[in-house]
Amino acid sequence: MHAIRDGHSPARSSDLLAFAVVFATVLCTLIPAHDLRRLAQVMVLALPAMCLLLWPVEALRVCRLRALFVGLWAGGFMIDGAVRAYLARTYQASADSALVLTAVANTGTGESVEYLSMYWPAMLPWVAVLMAGGLAMAWALRRTAVSPVQAGVPRANGARMPLLRRWSALLLCAVLLLSALAYALKPWRRLHPLVFWSDWVASVQELRDEWADQDELRQRTLARAAGLQPTVLSEGPSTVVVVISDSVNRDNLGLYGYTRETTPRLERLRDELGDAFLVLRHAWSVDAGTLASLRNLFWFGNYNAPEPMHVLALARAAGYHVTWISNHDDIAIDQSHAAFADRIERLSRTPGRSNRSADIDTLKPLRAALADPQPRKLIVVHLMGAHPHYSFRYPKGANPFDDGFDVVEHELEQEGRPVWLQVLRDEYDAALLHHDTVLAETFELLRQAPGSGDYRAWLYLSDHGQEVGHDADHAGHSSHTVAGFRIPAIVWQNQARSTLPADAWRRPFRVDWTGWTLAHLLDVRWQGDDRGRDVLDAAYRWADPQLPVSVASFEN
Ligand SMILES: [Zn+2]
Repeated sequence: MHAIRDGHSPARSSDLLAFAVVFATVLCTLIPAHDLRRLAQVMVLALPAMCLLLWPVEALRVCRLRALFVGLWAGGFMIDGAVRAYLARTYQASADSALVLTAVANTGTGESVEYLSMYWPAMLPWVAVLMAGGLAMAWALRRTAVSPVQAGVPRANGARMPLLRRWSALLLCAVLLLSALAYALKPWRRLHPLVFWSDWVASVQELRDEWADQDELRQRTLARAAGLQPTVLSEGPSTVVVVISDSVNRDNLGLYGYTRETTPRLERLRDELGDAFLVLRHAWSVDAGTLASLRNLFWFGNYNAPEPMHVLALARAAGYHVTWISNHDDIAIDQSHAAFADRIERLSRTPGRSNRSADIDTLKPLRAALADPQPRKLIVVHLMGAHPHYSFRYPKGANPFDDGFDVVEHELEQEGRPVWLQVLRDEYDAALLHHDTVLAETFELLRQAPGSGDYRAWLYLSDHGQEVGHDADHAGHSSHTVAGFRIPAIVWQNQARSTLPADAWRRPFRVDWTGWTLAHLLDVRWQGDDRGRDVLDAAYRWADPQLPVSVASFEN
């Protein structure tokens, strides 16, 4: 710095200073937005325009034009960085994640204002960073937009010039070469703010179009369901509660034989209720992800049929009042399933894995829904369950598995699972222990709801399983190991619609056939009914599903 300031060429030194300020400012705003590799890539994309400042320019007009161009260019990169950093800090999500895209696509102007009025404090630091950076750049760039002659400074071609020139030339060549390469490669080019955000706008529009189609499909399905004239066979009031959990692998439930006591409350219910509390031993999801699984669950595994039927549309057409209570913040699920309900109760305002909203908070709207005087009620409760991050799924400190050495840890160690995975397994099991409480409470609410003689049913299942060091050194959703598909499923009725064989718990069960079992609990009959897929019916006929992993036996 001193060398520059003491140099014999004030014009050149102001250019150099401007370059340094612009470079540092852009770099500083990009650091919180990217990891190191991305940061390097974006900086390489940003450099060519900044390097214009190293180019000796004489004419004042050209100087001004250059300052304006560099300012706009750098400003674009800075705004891009601030937006990305804000999203990463607030939602742990990238700007082009489904999460952000769906949220934006589903937001109208009014909601945008509402969002800004609610979240402006969180944005404030980033706005401050942008303003400070902008001011610094404006100051530095202004100094380059003064022609040496007009400023009254004699133009000096001092002894330092050749050295500076050699340096600048060398640097310029290296940077331009690297930049040319970056712009030639698509994955790099895509990181340029101009390219990225125009792609982004196109993606948002695409989603909006897709949802308009969903809207139309829903209206058509509701009309068709009414046309099928579904009927409820039994008389009298009936309440069916479906609890759909997320990412629960049955192998980690004490109820299913896991050595850790993760389900004390459910086990007590099983002991108390006996066969009426039907724990389906061999339950399977046919998808490893939520969206695909719920699509199969609600559309009778037949979404791609020319005229698919949605089980909630059927329930409504049969006279059920449908309430959807959700602890998920997922616009796609809302649009494709929840929107079929008469009423939606949404708890979470934070999408995805950073959702800290507790499943236990669903109890309040559930109690209210159960108290609704409607005679026939179907209530869907969609829980986060044991979805990553596991540590967000139980109260702080409520992890009894993280200290001491038990059978599970011994097994994991013997299988050579890394320590981080053992920690995650402990957290996963703690999440399931808390989940046990939530489930038991939903059950008790249903059991204790007013109307003693009414029919009541409770169906619990998970959308898919979870791999937490069962078959791989991996924690999370898994379409390449069996653990990703092994789920729990439990059915309870206070008065059975039909008599079940004593070994009904042995029957394998698959999520994409849930619609028929749910229809059984609702006691709905319609044209096109298939009792062979209803796990509670005498006519039940199992068929192995096609999974992306090979399963030795579905009865294991
Ligand atoms: Zn899921």
